[in-house]
Amino acid sequence: MGADAVRTTRWLVLLDRIQRWRGESAPARSDRYLLATLEEAFAEPGCPLCRLLAHKERRSLEALLWEQVNDPLTAERIARARGFCWEHTWALVPAGAAVHSHLGVAIVVERVLRQAFQAWSTGALARWWTPQEPCPICVWLADAEVTLLEATAALLRRDPTFLTARPGLLCRPHATALAASRAGVSLAEWEERAARELPGWSYRERLAHEVGRCPWFLPYPGVVPETCPACLAEPPRPGRLWAWLGEAFDRSAQMPARWAVACLGHALADGRSPAVDDLAALVGDLAAFVRAADYRFRGQLTEEQRASWLRALARLVGTVPAVGVHERVQTVAVLGFDRLAVDDRSVR
Ligand SMILES: [Zn+2]
Ligand SMILES: [Zn+2]
Ligand SMILES: [Zn+2]
Repeated sequence: MGADAVRTTRWLVLLDRIQRWRGESAPARSDRYLLATLEEAFAEPGCPLCRLLAHKERRSLEALLWEQVNDPLTAERIARARGFCWEHTWALVPAGAAVHSHLGVAIVVERVLRQAFQAWSTGALARWWTPQEPCPICVWLADAEVTLLEATAALLRRDPTFLTARPGLLCRPHATALAASRAGVSLAEWEERAARELPGWSYRERLAHEVGRCPWFLPYPGVVPETCPACLAEPPRPGRLWAWLGEAFDRSAQMPARWAVACLGHALADGRSPAVDDLAALVGDLAAFVRAADYRFRGQLTEEQRASWLRALARLVGTVPAVGVHERVQTVAVLGFDRLAVDDRSVR
């Protein structure tokens, strides 16, 4: 299946769910537990949907690292997706910390990088660089987002004050998605309330309101040990991830990375001679990192080996969402609604 086919499949799945949701005139079938959870989420400031999605994203990634690293079906799915999208590749950093081990992260990325290396060394990397499936975490989240929007529409039909008179306030992407649906949501009062409260919001609160939740982890230059120079030179683009990355780029000059190596996407795009040796060395460092977790291991890891799992993330998807295997075929890493109902908007 080619990139277009992947994109089409993903679109069909999302469109089917969205059309079903939009076409539903009967009361939504949202269950009571979900409605109660949602009501509770509206009792806190910020977008309740963004908060619940962030929670789901974290649980999914932690479960994956905790329980599914050695599950053959999960491994196969990750292999077919060529890893994860940019956002979820970097989210492995805090997810690994949350389960008290980056060994799981190293095992997952070592497999993907080893495949890339094998493809590269046989001249088949361009073919390998086409995912056969979307990012699995994105698929789970897209499904959860539609379910949450259905439930929110049901909640608003029952009690319209949830749109304007609760501590929680839907962000612009989620409010716009509801307005674009047949939920019959008018945004005038929502806009009024946001305009009233906006002067009291911090920069981050405004950004979250305009573009949606902050990614769980952002690989700011200098925070990760390896950075692709071409990634740093990429001009900012519209969209949630770039909006949140924004300020990091102003600081890139003062915060050099320990290692400057082209990410796979840029190396491929530039058509430079493939740095097979570099990639082989990184795969070797990662394998050493994984082996060192064995209790029988005696010896010391080099600095390169200790940082190998972080370097592997940078190598696979780059430090900006531009040329990763999933980013080059779609402009927004997460969720069909951003693309369907909301224009990319710049907040700065
Ligand atoms: Zn939101
Ligand atoms: Zn993803
Ligand atoms: Zn790059």
